Amino acid sequence: MSQQPPSAPSAEPPLYVKTPTIHPRAVKGPHRSMKTWLGILLVAVTALLPWLRWDRGPDMPHQAVLFSFTDMRAYLFGMDIWAQQFYLLTGILILACLVLFLATSLFGRIWCGFSCPQTVWTDLFVRIERLCEGERNARLRLENQPWTVNKILRKTAKHALWILVSSITGLIFCVYFTDAYAATAELLTGRASITLYSFWALFAGCTYGMAGFVREQMCIYMCPWPRIQGGMLDENTLNVTYDVARGEPRGRAKKGQEGAARGDCVDCRLCVQVCPTGIDIRDGVQMACINCGLCIDACNSVMARFDLPPNLIGWLPESKTKPKLFRPRTLIYGGLTAVLALVLLLATGLRREMDLSVLADRSPTSMRMSDGSVRDGYTVKLVNRHHRAVSGDLTVTGIPGLHLTRIGGAENVSVLHLTAQPDTVTTFRVYIRQDRDAPKTDHAPILFNFNNGMATARSVFQVNMGQ
Ligand code: SF4
Ligand code: SF4
Repeated sequence: MSQQPPSAPSAEPPLYVKTPTIHPRAVKGPHRSMKTWLGILLVAVTALLPWLRWDRGPDMPHQAVLFSFTDMRAYLFGMDIWAQQFYLLTGILILACLVLFLATSLFGRIWCGFSCPQTVWTDLFVRIERLCEGERNARLRLENQPWTVNKILRKTAKHALWILVSSITGLIFCVYFTDAYAATAELLTGRASITLYSFWALFAGCTYGMAGFVREQMCIYMCPWPRIQGGMLDENTLNVTYDVARGEPRGRAKKGQEGAARGDCVDCRLCVQVCPTGIDIRDGVQMACINCGLCIDACNSVMARFDLPPNLIGWLPESKTKPKLFRPRTLIYGGLTAVLALVLLLATGLRREMDLSVLADRSPTSMRMSDGSVRDGYTVKLVNRHHRAVSGDLTVTGIPGLHLTRIGGAENVSVLHLTAQPDTVTTFRVYIRQDRDAPKTDHAPILFNFNNGMATARSVFQVNMGQ
């Protein structure tokens, strides 16, 4: 009896499938205009901010917005945020997140559609592509045709412009961290450090890759936000939605078939062709949708052509009821945003321009002197955030019979006169001596006070009773 060969195992689906390039079609309408103007505003603000000057006095950086690693400080117009005050930057970031949560709970992924840098720069790169290679159909034809002189010239022009925009973007990101005018002059004349050139290349390369090639794949597969934002949505969140009841059954409008049992969707696929992520919104609300509203503009232009009412695709909540702006979720996000904004305002207004920190010597902790008194050593640091020197008196209280000595300065005094240099941390070495007859206690708390309460710090007098 002949044996049947075992049946071949079913073919495994490939782990990687190349995604076709999406060539979105140009569209006109209110969403497109808003996206364009918001994009122009965001790019202009990002590009211009580092070039603004701000007078901070002599020997200080005069850049209005600067994140300086050398000074370990963020300069934001009239406000200097020192490394010790980075809680303020953290607060600003948390505030931005809360505003994002509120916007998402109201209008879904609106940040992605209108203001995310990935979207804004991709939009700019697609415009350049359109300028060099033509409208969607011309771009698709060019993509599929063999390499001709025309194709090479058009592709070269596109990539040259992309590289130019990427280089400018890379330069702009760099000069947020160093003086804009000096760094630009150095970069363009070959005098910049290898670090600066490396960061320029890194930022420019990322812009070229992300906005030119990765594009919507970033929004669909790489960005964590679409996965997180689900937690902020509910049935009242407004999303770009296709009205199935009105649109279906879809079908091509044909002459002589007016009034046929057909929905309003004429199946022109314009909404798919304009979509920057290449999805069909008629398949339902999807994670890949960035709520840019371009399909609304496209569909409304079709509806107008067929004398049909607009908004077959529109902003609708899942509940299909009248949108409710005030609901527990939005009230909580709004309330938290208001409270945090208030706290940040207060924290900014009340932050101190001077700080004092004191560190007791670890070894030896204390010394008994030949006259019977006890002496401790301390490192005193005065943080002066003023752009001028501040002189004042350092005193110490808490236990009786204390005298101060500054190494290399006044000895055994009750008040030490110190000068804190402008915009820096000035360090002093100080001894505190307690008289022989004064009552002694192990680790008695003492209070350092600079300039009558301008800056205070606590420490302990570490006398060792066993000595
Ligand atoms: S489906 Fe519409 S709203 Fe969503 S990304 Fe595409 S064009 Fe934008
Ligand atoms: S643009 Fe409007 S009419 Fe055309 S396919 Fe999309 S939903 Fe249907």
